[in-house]
Amino acid sequence: MQAAPVKQDLVLIGGGHAHVEVLRRFGMRPEPGVRITLVSRDTHTPYSGMLPGLVAGHYGFDEVHIDLAPLTRFANARLYRDEVVGLDLVARRVLCRERPPIDFDVLSIDTGSAPAMAVPGAAAHAVPVKPVSNFNTRWQALCEEVMASTRPLTIGVVGAGAGGCELVLAVREGLRGRHPLGDDALAYRLVGSGADILPGHNAGARRRFRTALARAGIDVLDGFEVAAVDDRGVTAHDGRRLDLDTVLWVTHAAAPAWPAAAGLAVDERGFIRVDASLQAIAWPGIFAAGDVAAVGPHPRPKSGVFAVRQGPPLADNLRRACRGEAPRPFTPQREFLSLISTGARHAVASRGRFAAGGTWAWRWKDWIDRRFMRRYRELPQMDAAGAATDDDATEAMRCGGCGAKIGADILRDALATLDAAAREDVVLGIAEADDAAVVRIPAGHLAVHTVDGFRAFLDDPWMLGRVGAQHALNDVYAMGATPQSALALVTLPYAAPARLHGDLVHVLRGAIEVFAAADTALVGGHTGEGAELSLAFAVNGYVAPGQLVGKRGVRTGDVLVLTRALGTGVLFAAAMRGLARARWLEAALERMVQSNAAAARCLVAHGAHAMTDVTGFGLAGHLLEMLDGHAAEVALGRLPLYAGAETLAGDAVASTLLAENRRAERAVTARHSAACGARYDLAFDPQTAGGLLAAIPAERAVDCLGALRAAGYAEATDIGTVGAGAGPLVFSD
Ligand SMILES: Cc1cc2nc3c(=O)[nH]c(=O)nc-3n(C[C@H](O)[C@H](O)[C@H](O)COP(=O)(O)OP(=O)(O)OC[C@H]3O[C@@H](n4cnc5c(N)ncnc54)[C@H](O)[C@@H]3O)c2cc1C
Repeated sequence: MQAAPVKQDLVLIGGGHAHVEVLRRFGMRPEPGVRITLVSRDTHTPYSGMLPGLVAGHYGFDEVHIDLAPLTRFANARLYRDEVVGLDLVARRVLCRERPPIDFDVLSIDTGSAPAMAVPGAAAHAVPVKPVSNFNTRWQALCEEVMASTRPLTIGVVGAGAGGCELVLAVREGLRGRHPLGDDALAYRLVGSGADILPGHNAGARRRFRTALARAGIDVLDGFEVAAVDDRGVTAHDGRRLDLDTVLWVTHAAAPAWPAAAGLAVDERGFIRVDASLQAIAWPGIFAAGDVAAVGPHPRPKSGVFAVRQGPPLADNLRRACRGEAPRPFTPQREFLSLISTGARHAVASRGRFAAGGTWAWRWKDWIDRRFMRRYRELPQMDAAGAATDDDATEAMRCGGCGAKIGADILRDALATLDAAAREDVVLGIAEADDAAVVRIPAGHLAVHTVDGFRAFLDDPWMLGRVGAQHALNDVYAMGATPQSALALVTLPYAAPARLHGDLVHVLRGAIEVFAAADTALVGGHTGEGAELSLAFAVNGYVAPGQLVGKRGVRTGDVLVLTRALGTGVLFAAAMRGLARARWLEAALERMVQSNAAAARCLVAHGAHAMTDVTGFGLAGHLLEMLDGHAAEVALGRLPLYAGAETLAGDAVASTLLAENRRAERAVTARHSAACGARYDLAFDPQTAGGLLAAIPAERAVDCLGALRAAGYAEATDIGTVGAGAGPLVFSD
C-alpha cells in the first residue's frame, strides 16, 4: 500500500490521547520512507472528557470515541489490533499477545493507565472503569440488571477524585427512570480514602461538588480506605463495612507491568521515566507519553489534558528521531482548566483557586469536547502528493523477473522462525527445500487442487495471512474435501531487507496458524517484491469419490442455506476510503478467519445436493453458477449482513468489482421493494473469505440450520428456495 521503499519503522503502542494527534500530524505531513504501525488493544479510543457523558446518556458511543481505523488510514499507518505484552529492547522488537514480534526503529508508548486493583478482592468483585471497552460492556450489563431488578440496589463508586465524583453522578443520571420500583430503589455511595473529595482541586470546586452530590442524594464516605472487596461490598482498614450490590472502581492510576519487565527505567509506581523530550531514559529512539509516562523534570497528574498536550511535541520528536535529529524538550503548562460534569447538563469549572459552576459550564465543556473530537473525525482530504514519496529513485527501480524474488537469506530466516505443521504424508516439504514439494494421496482418493489469492485489502500482514489462508481453504471445503497441503505465493512491497523479513514472517505466521488448525502443511511457495502486498495460496486436498460435492446438482424444492454474512466487499472498500468504523471491520474479520470446515461437514451430513463458497462474484454470481439454469427465489430481507454493510451500500459505497458482478443481473428478476435496495446491491458484493452456500433437501433444512448455529455459525440462514423449471433467479423482499 505504501509506494516508496520503507526505510524506517515507527511503531506506536496504544491509541491513546497523544498518539491520535501523532497520527493526525503524520497524516497531514507524511515522513518519506517512514512506515507507521499502530498496535492497539482497542480500535476505538474513548475521549476521557466525554466518558461520563456517555454513561449519563448525553452522548452515543460514536460521539465519545475516536475511531482508529479512518485515522490510521489517513496517516497511511497500519493498524494492528493486539495487546503488547513486552519489549525486546536490544533487538528493538515489540512483543504482542497474538502476532509475531514487530521490529521498530523508533518506538512510542501511549497505553494509558488503569485503576490500581491491588486491594484483595478488587480484581474479582469490582468493576474497573478502565479499560473502557470492558467497562462499557459491564455498564450495559448493569443497566439491564437494574431494569430487571425486583429489589432496591446500592451502587458504590470507590475513588473520590475527579473521575470518581464525575462517574457516580453520571451513573445516577444514566440509571434514572430505569429501576422498576422507581428511582428511590437505587442508592449511591461515593467512597474516598482522603479527608475530602477532589484532591488537587480548590476548596470552591470541592464545595460545589459536595452540594451537587448532596442534591443527588449520594452519600459520601471520607477517610474510607478500602482494605477488601467481596461479593457483597467493601470493608475499610478501620473495620467499617459498606454493603454494596455493585462496586465501581476509579482509584488512582496504576502502571502496566511490562515496561519495567522489559528493562525500561520506571518510577516508583512503574510508570516509564522519560526526559523533557518524552524520550525514555537511557533508550534513544523510544518515547512515552500520556498516563504511562513519568516526565522527570515536569511531573503532572495523570490526566487526559496532559496526554493531549503532549501530542504535538511527541509528533515533532518522533519525526526528528526518524530523521536522526536530536529531540527537543517540552515544558507542559502547570495549571489547566478542569470542567467536571455533575451528571445532568451542569458542570463545575476549576482552575488554580478559581471555581464556578452552572449549565453554562457544561455547554462550554460540551463545545470544547465536540470541537476536539471533530479534529479526528473530520480529517482533511489529502491529495496524492500528500502520500509518502522518495527522492532516492534508484532504490525504487527494482528488478523484475526472478530478480524480484526475495533474497534467499530472508526467506530462509523467515521460514526458520515459523513452525509449520508437519504431516506424515508430506514426503518433501519446506524443511527439505527441494525444487518441488511431494505429497502422498491416501489410496482410493481423488486429489483436489485450488488456488486463490488477492491484493492486500488490509494493512495488517498477520491478519491478511490468516484471512488469505482461510479464503483459499474454503474452496476445498466447498467440495466436501479434506485439505492436506498448501503453497504460498507472497509479493511484498519494496523495503529494506530487515523490513521484508518482518513482513514475511507476519504473513506466513498468520497463514500457518490457520493451516495448522486445518491440519494442512505449508509445503512451499514463492516470494517476490512488488508495488504492493499480495498473497495467494494453492491448497491441495483429497476426497473419496462418493463424497465429492459439486457446485451443481440443485433439486427443485431445495432450501438455500448461507452460512456467513455478506458485505466484506463494501466494508473494505469503505475502509480504503476511511469510511468504515473499526468495530465493523473487527466484527467482519472475526468471522472471516472462522474456519468453514465444520460448516462443510454439517452441510454434507444434511445431504447437501450442491455446495460452493461465496467469493469474488458475490452471492448472485455464485448462486447462478450453482443453479445452472434452475429457478430460485431469494428473500433479500433474510440475507445475513455484516454490521455496517447495509448502511454503506445505502450510501452508495461499493467495491470496484460491483459493476462487473452486476452483469449477472441479466439472469435476475428483481421483485423487491425500494426498502431492500441496499440489500439487493449486497447480493452482488464480492466476498473475501465468504461463507458456504448449499442446496439442502427441504425436510432437513431446519435440523441443518440448528446444527450450524450450534457449531458456531450464528448467522447461518435459509435465504431462499430452488424452484421448478428453468431460471430466472428472483430477488424479492
Ligand atoms: C471516569 C474518568 C473520567 C475522566 N475524565 C477526565 C477528564 O474529564 N479530563 C481529563 O483530562 N482526564 C480525565 N480522566 C483521565 C483520563 O482518562 C486519562 O488521563 C487519559 O485517558 C490518559 O490518556 P492516555 O493517552 O495516557 O491513554 P488512554 O487514553 O487511556 O489510551 C490508552 C490506549 O492504549 C491502549 N492500550 C493499553 N494497553 C495496551 C497494550 N498493552 N497494548 C496495546 N494497546 C494498549 C488502549 O486500548 C487505549 O487505546 C478521566 C478518567 C476517568 C477514569
